[in-house]
Amino acid sequence: MSEVLDVAKKDGRWVECPSCSEIIITRKLQENLWVCHHCNHHFRLGARDRIDMICDRGTFDELRAGDYSGDEAPEEAIRAGKASIGGKPCFLGVMDFSHKGGSMGTALGQRIVQLMNAAEKDKLPLIMFCASGGVRIHEGIWGLFQMLRTVHARDKITGSPLITVFTDPTTGGVTASFASLADILLAEPGARIGFAGPRVIQTVFHSELPEGFQSAETLLANGFLDSIVHRRDLKDTLSFFLRWF
Ligand SMILES: [Zn+2]
Repeated sequence: MSEVLDVAKKDGRWVECPSCSEIIITRKLQENLWVCHHCNHHFRLGARDRIDMICDRGTFDELRAGDYSGDEAPEEAIRAGKASIGGKPCFLGVMDFSHKGGSMGTALGQRIVQLMNAAEKDKLPLIMFCASGGVRIHEGIWGLFQMLRTVHARDKITGSPLITVFTDPTTGGVTASFASLADILLAEPGARIGFAGPRVIQTVFHSELPEGFQSAETLLANGFLDSIVHRRDLKDTLSFFLRWF
């Protein structure tokens, strides 16, 4: 929600689109699922908004986090639970970039493993909405271990399909671990998906990067994604895929 909050400054009745600079009435933007009417820019969403948008009303049931109940669980950059989408049950993980850049630390890695194990146990599909700056590097090697840990958990899932939805931005160790190992890879339009950021790459290689570098559209054109889905079509698309399983 951070990008939304940033632009909906002061009284919040008007929002400036960070892509086309159009001034939009916040209420209209909200009605349009936080997508700019003028340029189709998909604003970043918080986990709660995403869950409300995707799940059938009132069906999201948060998984207990270890010894904590859903309400008492330590705040993390992910909401994890069981839900129904278009009448089909599934497990759902929604990462939240506004919490520490959606970084994957030990607790977040644990939640992802927990989701995968629950999906495998119940033989239900798992949908992961990814939004992350990568590994929570201030946890040091324990942060990096989460890549290994989530990939290992993903490898053990044999009976449950994994669907990843890349949202803006998904980078670093999340792209480079479980997120890219899904059976179906979807993205929102314009999402940045990559490993190192463009400034780092440009500095290392001393060369100009091509237009659309690390955009969902470029990744689709090069075969790294199955589809780019507009936010208004996401729920229908996911329920379509869920009917397969
Ligand atoms: Zn715009």
